[in-house]
Amino acid sequence: MGTVDIKSEFNRQMNQELRNAYLYLSMAAYFDSLSLAGFAHYFKVQAREELEHAMKLYQFMVDRGWEVELGDVPKPKAKWGSVLEAAEDFLRAERENTQRIWRMVDLARQAGDKAAEGFLQWFVSEQVEEERNASELLARVRMVKDNPAGILALDRMLAERK
Ligand code: MG
Repeated sequence: MGTVDIKSEFNRQMNQELRNAYLYLSMAAYFDSLSLAGFAHYFKVQAREELEHAMKLYQFMVDRGWEVELGDVPKPKAKWGSVLEAAEDFLRAERENTQRIWRMVDLARQAGDKAAEGFLQWFVSEQVEEERNASELLARVRMVKDNPAGILALDRMLAERK
């Protein structure tokens, strides 16, 4: 105990959530450039959720009296070869995020930090939902392939996301 640097992991993950927000905002811009307003809306909502995740981590650190340290958020990927490629990146990013959260749970446990471990359970559950959403979107994009009518139908559906 004491050797596990859980505080820097929280700062790193806060930065990661901001990176994901930036990635999804970039995807929204890509879809807006294709006049796929429904896809763009979906990823704007997703970007906002990632910002909320970062803020949850921020508040937990403040509540614990930990130092909040903001790192760089690099320029995200801006061009995708297809709707399919972007949907694949979405699922990949969420799967990677799940692995990071799970590692943090392990570290919190090693550190004996019950509050951090309990707090992270919300993120564990959230990642199940995130992966499900990304998998579902990818499956639907694969279903319609390059069919314009299918893409437009999907676009209308995604515009409904709250
Ligand atoms: Mg997130």
